[in-house]
Amino acid sequence: QLSYRLGRVASHVPEGAIVADIGSDHAYLPCYLVAEGLAERAIAGEVVKGPFESAKKQVRQEGLEDRITVRLASGLAAIEPVDGVTAITIAGMGGPLIASILEQDKARLEGVQRLILQPNVHAKAIREWAAANGWHIVNEEILEENSKIYEIIVLEPAGKAVEFEEKELLFGPVLMAQRSDVFHTKWQREMSQWQKIVASMDANAEAADIGEKKQELAQKIKLVEEVLNGEI
Ligand code: SAM
Repeated sequence: QLSYRLGRVASHVPEGAIVADIGSDHAYLPCYLVAEGLAERAIAGEVVKGPFESAKKQVRQEGLEDRITVRLASGLAAIEPVDGVTAITIAGMGGPLIASILEQDKARLEGVQRLILQPNVHAKAIREWAAANGWHIVNEEILEENSKIYEIIVLEPAGKAVEFEEKELLFGPVLMAQRSDVFHTKWQREMSQWQKIVASMDANAEAADIGEKKQELAQKIKLVEEVLNGEI
């Protein structure tokens, strides 16, 4: 029942954790974690009524109501101090949305030892948030399922400011060090999209403010080429 993607997210949850899964939809992830004995208890947070009802139904069907609480709430508002949450999972959304959920209610991250985040796109926004808020990247993963490529970023509190180089923010320090086949595929895809945009800009060269944008894209293409060729 659990997708390969969510299975990989689950693999980064520390054993015995008390987990809050934000944007839980059907609550498949918390149900799996608790049913398999990987997490002690869980909160499933959902902001939309339909998915919230699906989550409640799933938890009931699996007989896990005593250990999973489903709450209708936006972002980290689903977490209450008495829950004693130790790990948070946020999966299947864009990086900027995940970062804004974390930014909005930072007080509720008190006591949380690990964030397992799975952006569908723009993972960079999460790394920027981590650097600005003193979380370091303890692990990253890149995977492909049904021709879609996903990244997972695992954060733990650093207790101090964290800095990343520009290329680490974009590619991910761990993913960049590994340079797996999926990593190559992802950046080849991104690069060919940018190349198409540059080509269409060339065709509309007379439009204003195109020069700057084109230069920016050309720089990104060059950076990706250098990384994929192992030059940096
Ligand atoms: N986490 C599941 C997964 O990875 O398969 C579901 C992903 S689904 C694409 C995103 C879910 O997040 C939707 O059910 C949506 O309603 C919910 N969501 C979006 N913004 C949210 C927010 N601010 N707070 C809580 N849930 C949110």
